[in-house]
Amino acid sequence: MSRTRPIVAIDGPAGAGKSTVARSVADRLGFVLVDTGALYRTVALAASRAGLPYAAAEEVGALAESLVEKDAIAFLRDARGIRMTLAGEDVSDSIRTPDIGMGASTVSAHPRVRAALLEMQRQAGRAGGVVLEGRDIGTVVFPDAEVKVFLTARPEVRARRRYDELVAKGDTRMSFEETLADVQKRDAQDEGRAVAPLRQAEGAILVDSSEMGVDDAVEAIARLAREVSR
Ligand code: C5P
Repeated sequence: MSRTRPIVAIDGPAGAGKSTVARSVADRLGFVLVDTGALYRTVALAASRAGLPYAAAEEVGALAESLVEKDAIAFLRDARGIRMTLAGEDVSDSIRTPDIGMGASTVSAHPRVRAALLEMQRQAGRAGGVVLEGRDIGTVVFPDAEVKVFLTARPEVRARRRYDELVAKGDTRMSFEETLADVQKRDAQDEGRAVAPLRQAEGAILVDSSEMGVDDAVEAIARLAREVSR
């Protein structure tokens, strides 16, 4: 299908600055933002509430399928921005904990979970004029995206950002070293899984944000999107 406005796919590991960069790129271009990690986090939250271990592939897969079938996972736009809802409840804050982050990484390795969420993501992006951020947007969800970016940074830099974010929220339960170990474990899990592992997509541009400011990364990506817009 030909699109008049492009799909911008931003993939990369945890803590590379994807959320901030993707939000700014979407704002600058007037595009819709789709945070696909929030979908996996919501499935992890639902599993945790249902008392299911994250590693229970079939049970968590069946749960994800039933949530999607019932339209129970949705993005809601309100004055505060884009909110994530689970059966009508705003779970945007509850999904932003280290436990749910790790849970999301575990549940996202289950093929049934990925399959259940795939069509939702395609529906959200199909028309173009959208920025999708995740791990497999350029490789699996939209391999034909007009703009593909792999945004990364050194593990220490990513862990420092995660740690500073947690401390800013008043969460001092994890030390910097534990945050770094968490980031490395999640990278290994995301890169090592059999289905849709995290990797740079063919045709994706590598942006390393270790030394680069957010504004420079945003400008570079927005420029690419403008170039391909007709
Ligand atoms: O980006 P975020 O940290 O919210 O993602 C949480 C987890 O969801 C990731 O660690 C990854 O395992 C999974 N994920 C995924 N595919 C995506 C987006 C996120 O597997 N497109």
